[in-house]
Amino acid sequence: MLELRPTCEHCNRPLPPSSPDARICSYECTFCARCVDDVLFNVCPNCGGGFAPRPVRPARNWKGDNFLGHDPASTRVKHRPVDPAQHARFATQLRAMPPAER
Ligand SMILES: [Zn+2]
Ligand SMILES: [Zn+2]
Repeated sequence: MLELRPTCEHCNRPLPPSSPDARICSYECTFCARCVDDVLFNVCPNCGGGFAPRPVRPARNWKGDNFLGHDPASTRVKHRPVDPAQHARFATQLRAMPPAER
């Protein structure tokens, strides 16, 4: 189950569970769409993978207790800003490769 982390790991802006701006890598490193585009170039600074929009967990109990009321979003902030110059070096080769080929 996704943790649904509460903020962008780089800029720390809030990313509530319903946010359409949340992006995650396969390890659920979580960033906002703007940081993924402008700072990370779709390269996760922790694993080198790409990002996808984070699915929204339903707020209401449509079926079988599978909703935020039963499985709430994480409240543990992971704020680990990247050094943009250092990340740009790391991403030099990776950003030119589609995530499916990394
Ligand atoms: Zn951000
Ligand atoms: Zn990652």
